[in-house]
Amino acid sequence: MSGGLERGDRIAGERRVRADVCVIGSGAGGAPVAKELAEGGMRVVSLEDGGHFTTDDFDARPRNMVARLYRDAGQSATLGNVPIVLPLGRTVGGSTTINSGTCFRTPPPVLDMWGERFGLDELNAHELDPYFRRVERIINVVQVPPEIAGRNAEVVKRGADALGWHGDHIFRNVRGCVGSGVCAFGCPTSAKQHTGLTWVPQGWAAGATTFDHTRARRIVMSGGRARGVEATTSGGGRMVVDCDAVVVACGAIHTPLFLRRQGLGGHSGELGRNLAVHPATGVRALFAEEIDMARGVPQSFYIDEFADEGIMFEGAAGPPDYASMSLPFAGARHREAMLRFRNMSQFGLMVSDVSRGFVRERAGRAEIHYDLNEEDTATFKRGIELLTELYWAAGAEVVYTPVEGLGELHNGEIEPLRKRRVRARDLNALMAFHPLGTARADARPDHGVVDGGLKLHGCDGVDAADGSVVPSSIGVNPQITIMALSVRLAYGLLGKPAPREEPEPSSFARPRITRPHALTA
Ligand SMILES: Cc1cc2nc3c(=O)[nH]c(=O)nc-3n(C[C@H](O)[C@H](O)[C@H](O)COP(=O)(O)OP(=O)(O)OC[C@H]3O[C@@H](n4cnc5c(N)ncnc54)[C@H](O)[C@@H]3O)c2cc1C
Ligand code: SF4
Repeated sequence: MSGGLERGDRIAGERRVRADVCVIGSGAGGAPVAKELAEGGMRVVSLEDGGHFTTDDFDARPRNMVARLYRDAGQSATLGNVPIVLPLGRTVGGSTTINSGTCFRTPPPVLDMWGERFGLDELNAHELDPYFRRVERIINVVQVPPEIAGRNAEVVKRGADALGWHGDHIFRNVRGCVGSGVCAFGCPTSAKQHTGLTWVPQGWAAGATTFDHTRARRIVMSGGRARGVEATTSGGGRMVVDCDAVVVACGAIHTPLFLRRQGLGGHSGELGRNLAVHPATGVRALFAEEIDMARGVPQSFYIDEFADEGIMFEGAAGPPDYASMSLPFAGARHREAMLRFRNMSQFGLMVSDVSRGFVRERAGRAEIHYDLNEEDTATFKRGIELLTELYWAAGAEVVYTPVEGLGELHNGEIEPLRKRRVRARDLNALMAFHPLGTARADARPDHGVVDGGLKLHGCDGVDAADGSVVPSSIGVNPQITIMALSVRLAYGLLGKPAPREEPEPSSFARPRITRPHALTA
């Protein structure tokens, strides 16, 4: 079998293939390990539930693209004391195809905490540095030039500068980004270096094969170790991959469900638990000047002044159809706000959560449970107050907070917000993009699902490599943390030393995190 794409929607009968390793999932975790193993000489077969799309398929229309690229058309959400929309990618490239491209290394204090709490001493900043360098080179992590950062970032930077708050333009995995503003719907210019444009084709060039539209159903175990994977295709076919090792990389929502279905990874009782999501919301403001959020990189600027409190502010601009979906209004008020879209700014607030949820399967579907606790709710309130303050400093005329019943704020008002008792259910339009931790790494078999090398405790030939292994909130966007861990897993499986020859990047984002906020979780 030579490398490349095999279309699962065209496979109707029985298919049996042989590989050394079968990788399940092709997102931030699955694609790097598949590529590295193939380059290391292993026969690799990847299975991906979603379809393969090329840049020509990306028409920049949110309504079309959400249906194609997102699981459940982007409607996945949590159950709990406040609903949180939790979109997931389902395509070759996984969620990297629809993400904003923001790249932050795991903050070193968070890695230190992993050593102390989870016995993961080997995952320190020095050990991971060569893997981060390799990831950053392969996906081309560069800083957003101010010319394409957009007016949304400009006004927010103006506010931050006036208040003396630290922030900077974001580092992203792009080549030749033109600031078209639709990263969340498939980059129509091939600028965003998602895994479907980088690790996946590089894996093909080294002989790996990806079956898209193919859902892994079961790991075949024999004598206590993995011997194969059974899968079904959307074309109605059945596949068996005979292999010696399996890497599960279905993402933090589906990896624990997949493992549990066959009784793997459950002995510590931690499988499916410890779900962190980095919940987020946005504050919006109207300005006299034109902003036009549809132009420029949607997530081009961050403010980390309050990162030690668990608060990161990151750009959250987008085209009008995107903004209209997330505005916390209805009816005439919604129409009125959208008529002033060109003068509207929106900025995101992400919380490094200490709340934890869990996932389980009900009637064949993922059920995600998550209650936002009082501490995180208070962090949200503080973040909303700060963003409101920033918008006044930037010259806003009206501020819309995502707090139920608060309405608009005018003329520098902040007291109505400060005085308000905010409960979790009072927070509007919560979203989360970073599910983590449901098969967490912990050196101790009784406390985690995988060890520091990502091998499933108590089972040979099965590793996990995706957001599920990241043992805590990290306070920054996680895609390159997941990629670095995944590359390290491949090097471990190949018995290769760390790629210390990788060139040092000229710079990368170093958020001001001096202590891990999520320490108490
Ligand atoms: C809208 C959005 C914006 C984001 N922005 C950023 C950002 O700017 N920066 C950042 O760092 N992170 C961002 N993220 C998060 C980041 O993309 C994810 O953390 C990362 O992609 C997770 O990697 P993963 O491997 O765990 O899962 P995914 O990348 O989601 O990949 C999992 C893959 O497994 C497949 N799969 C699942 N079950 C099966 C099965 N049984 N058989 C076969 N295949 C299966 C899925 O279809 C999917 O393609 C964003 C996420 C979203 C949704
Ligand atoms: S802003 Fe840049 S990376 Fe995002 S979709 Fe447009 S060109 Fe692609």
